[in-house]
Amino acid sequence: MRADVARRAVGLRLAGIGRTFHNERAQSFALRDVSLDVARHECLVILGPSGSGKTTLLRIVAGLERPEAGTVSFDGRDVTAEPPERRGAGVVFAEDALFPHMSAFENIAYGIPRGDRERVRAAAASMHVEHLLERRANTLSGGERQRVALARALALEPVILLLDEPLARLDAPLRLALRLELMSVLRGGSYTTVLVTHDQSEAMALGDRIAVMREGRIEQLGSPRDVYDRPANLFVASFVGAPAMALLAAASFGSLAPPGAETIGLRADAVLLSASGESAGRVRAVEDLGAEAYAYVETPNGTLVSRLTGPAPGLGENVRLHIDAAKMHSFDAEGRRLAHAERA
Ligand code: ADP
Ligand code: MG
Repeated sequence: MRADVARRAVGLRLAGIGRTFHNERAQSFALRDVSLDVARHECLVILGPSGSGKTTLLRIVAGLERPEAGTVSFDGRDVTAEPPERRGAGVVFAEDALFPHMSAFENIAYGIPRGDRERVRAAAASMHVEHLLERRANTLSGGERQRVALARALALEPVILLLDEPLARLDAPLRLALRLELMSVLRGGSYTTVLVTHDQSEAMALGDRIAVMREGRIEQLGSPRDVYDRPANLFVASFVGAPAMALLAAASFGSLAPPGAETIGLRADAVLLSASGESAGRVRAVEDLGAEAYAYVETPNGTLVSRLTGPAPGLGENVRLHIDAAKMHSFDAEGRRLAHAERA
């Protein structure tokens, strides 16, 4: 499904979107010239830290906010001047907006043509809430309410589905369970979706493509693999991936660093504990996550993270490290990825 995104019809087009805010403390924020296409039935994830402009962008798509510059089109139709109710977007925010005293059924049925019980049931089934339909919204748990809110958006059969951190308020096990279900709904290929999150693992799991945002600009737009394997710049390199990529001065790598490199980036799988390794360091922390474990090793050139493949070293232990040069990322003085460092 990912490979053919570029060849599919455009479901949503943003062209040159600009929006500025000024607040009392004379700080300003701007979305600057944001342009992107979302293919019909693609799930595009907008990933960025808090305050990077994700919600503002989503509100502009929904019609809840007016851009100062640029246009929004749905399926080739310019909707920039249309009010939200004429655009046909289904919107879900982190905080569900259900009517507390109405049943789940009534909440889902709200806004769809009267009597279409089948549509309500189908949407409820896709989010696994059929058994909750008669319950009042204020008697449901947070996770159940968010499923109902998602079912309500799906029942509208929206031209475009807009999800703003829909899982952010749920605790970890629920978040993971609902993420898997959303994945099968969104990857099923029936919805054109823009999903906003600050959580990079959610972005990797749910996005056909990811747009990484920072300070109102798109820093990189690509498949999850592109963004992870070939981060376009230092910001994307440090924001995407956990543990974060270690970034070190290229000078300390001597002839291993490609010409023009100012910074070298190493993910944990490029750094191996090895008795015959070429560099030395001291173990500062060990993080055992169950399925995988990492050692944080202080070296004269900075802290490196190593993904452990054998027994964990002790805290404070002196170890030797081998660096897999083929997995090195390099960046120039402006922080941009060096293309010649690309290896297949
Ligand atoms: P995100 O969703 O990525 O956390 P937002 O789009 O909510 O970011 O906000 C981006 C920036 O715009 C923030 O600095 C925020 O304070 C500012 N902002 C958003 N809406 C308004 C508003 N109505 N008035 C003033 N500033 C705003
Ligand atoms: Mg937000």
